[in-house]
Amino acid sequence: MTVDATLVLGWIAEIATAVSSERARLTALDAAIGDADHGVNLDRGFAAVRARLAQAEAVPATPGAVLALAGRTLISTVGGASGPLYGTALREMSKSLGPAASVDDASFVAALRAGLDGVRRLGAAAEGDKTMVDAYAPALAAMEAAVRAGQPLAAAANSAAHAAADGARATVPLQARKGRASYLGARSIGHQDPGATSTALIFAALQRAAERR
Ligand code: ADP
Ligand code: MG
Repeated sequence: MTVDATLVLGWIAEIATAVSSERARLTALDAAIGDADHGVNLDRGFAAVRARLAQAEAVPATPGAVLALAGRTLISTVGGASGPLYGTALREMSKSLGPAASVDDASFVAALRAGLDGVRRLGAAAEGDKTMVDAYAPALAAMEAAVRAGQPLAAAANSAAHAAADGARATVPLQARKGRASYLGARSIGHQDPGATSTALIFAALQRAAERR
């Protein structure tokens, strides 16, 4: 099985729909330990990605080109920390995929790994710091194990989505050590991290897009 531009366009569309419908919940989570803009930020960013793809004279023909456009757009349209972080993840994925018209599932998972590495380089967060890394890292580990075991991408993404949701829930008792929430110190304890929550949405979106393949 391969991952092509259509699948990645479907993924982006699913993310845009999810962050739009979950915008209020993401923003409410950010209101508790941040500045109440996470849902607004991501909705603005992915709406801009969708608009740019709709306006583009030629829709990008490779998965790498779709992700490069999406990453660039997030970085230029989202003011908060999450825009550059998710934008970097998508751009690193794009670099990892290169110019191929389609890649196998293992190469796509390797690109997701490159995305996480990019987030870590930019944000310097480790697991347990109460950030998107707490959802992304276990999701990726689940996905790598599933693809290595020969599971189809949709099943692997399903495992990843569950691991991401578990990871997001597990941020509740943590004290934030990175980002705006860290300014609250111990008062950040008892709330779920907004970015880890949106990462779970992003892996669930991948599952839906892969199921349609
Ligand atoms: P801002 O904090 O600038 O308002 P958002 O509200 O859009 O940006 O995003 C907040 C989320 O970004 C947090 O919930 C957290 O998951 C993530 N985040 C913040 N700083 C970092 C970091 N250094 N590394 C990884 N993720 C981070
Ligand atoms: Mg915020």
